[in-house]
Amino acid sequence: MRQSQQPSFIRKDFPKDEEAYNAQILIRAGFVDKVMAGVYSYLPLGLRVLDRIENIVRKRMDELGAAQILMPVLHPKENWQKTGRWGDLDVLFKVIARDKKEYALGPTHEEIVAPLGQKAVASYKDLPFALYQIQTKLRDEPRAKSGLLRGREFLMKDLYSFHATESDLESYYARAIEAYRAIFRDLGLDAVLVEASGGTFSKYSHEFQVLIDAGEDTVVYCEKCHFAQNKEINDARDGDPCPSCGAPLALRSGAEVGNIFQLKQKYSEPFGLAYRDAQGEQKTVLMGCYGIGISRLMGVCAELFHDDRGLVWPAAIAPFDAHLIVLSGADAVVAQEVRRRADALYDSLVAAGVDVLYDDRLDLTAGEKFAEADLTGIPIRLVVSQKTGDRVEIKRRSQTAVELVDFNEAVPYCIQK
Ligand code: ATP
Ligand code: MG
Repeated sequence: MRQSQQPSFIRKDFPKDEEAYNAQILIRAGFVDKVMAGVYSYLPLGLRVLDRIENIVRKRMDELGAAQILMPVLHPKENWQKTGRWGDLDVLFKVIARDKKEYALGPTHEEIVAPLGQKAVASYKDLPFALYQIQTKLRDEPRAKSGLLRGREFLMKDLYSFHATESDLESYYARAIEAYRAIFRDLGLDAVLVEASGGTFSKYSHEFQVLIDAGEDTVVYCEKCHFAQNKEINDARDGDPCPSCGAPLALRSGAEVGNIFQLKQKYSEPFGLAYRDAQGEQKTVLMGCYGIGISRLMGVCAELFHDDRGLVWPAAIAPFDAHLIVLSGADAVVAQEVRRRADALYDSLVAAGVDVLYDDRLDLTAGEKFAEADLTGIPIRLVVSQKTGDRVEIKRRSQTAVELVDFNEAVPYCIQK
């Protein structure tokens, strides 16, 4: 993508109306734009990061045998009344249409997916199966001060599984935990599996928490055996002995990036989601649900992957693989030759399938281009200038060392990453 043909949303300064670092840096670097508290537009660079996160998640959902669907944002009130959540769920946004009819704006989709599931189930032979979506959720969050970590409108991956037996639900739940571990590993994140609630219920719900200072949750964590529990349900203090291994516990801030539940009959019951078993008896379908905060993950990554000059994206989720910068200089004849070389390199990178952002703009100084490249945080920077002659300067965003390579080595370098 040629930068000369794109609008630039990069800003000289951090926005003044954001408390959270993730939002400050993502706005300044032109990845997102704030519309109002908890509501953002995703700009070309930001959308590319979201796409890459989604692709990593989608791959693991496919491996779990789940089929992707897309459910609506606008929900009938009756479905939410059936489960009791029309009255109980404080974050539920409600809208009134011109005929005074009320609707809910989906904060999650059990109320839609349970009646949908029923349409595919008659007998035990139709089970199990799983459906997922990557979709915009709306929640009337009381505080939306953590940037992308807490949106009033945000992107979630939600997976729902349908089973005939407890043991089938349990084995799927265990596979989902492994899929989640793989997703966070692919994203370059260290996410700890946290028991979401105390006592006997804990084995039916787990959270995945990334331990960052900006996280809104507090996790009781044992460095030694990795025991972890949400503080909401645990009155442990810093230094208390770990219930599992006895080592001292620490209280750590965490951002919940994933949450999984064995819902069992909670949402299938109200919708009469049932199947006929081998004896011809009607039984209630058992469900599981598994969420991942796609846009929250982007915020978590911005909190983790940066230095004082800007973002430092891991290759797996970077908006581009490489950032090619041409510095043509003042001399017209030299400039033409430098450009010709940079254009040729750009074309061969594109032809080789490298996602490359090409800073071919004429009206910026070298210093400005380098500062913007650092802010953007693409893993590999390539520079073509009069100084580099018939070679290309290569630098990794995460390192300081600079290398000069031949033109024909630049493409394989970017492919290997
Ligand atoms: P939280 O405890 O942070 O409010 P939750 O437990 O209500 O989240 P779930 O209903 O479990 O959230 O949603 C699944 C996932 O969606 C969460 O694990 C989180 O990653 C993400 N998520 C939830 N609420 C938000 C939000 N307001 N903004 C961004 N992501 C969110
Ligand atoms: Mg949760």
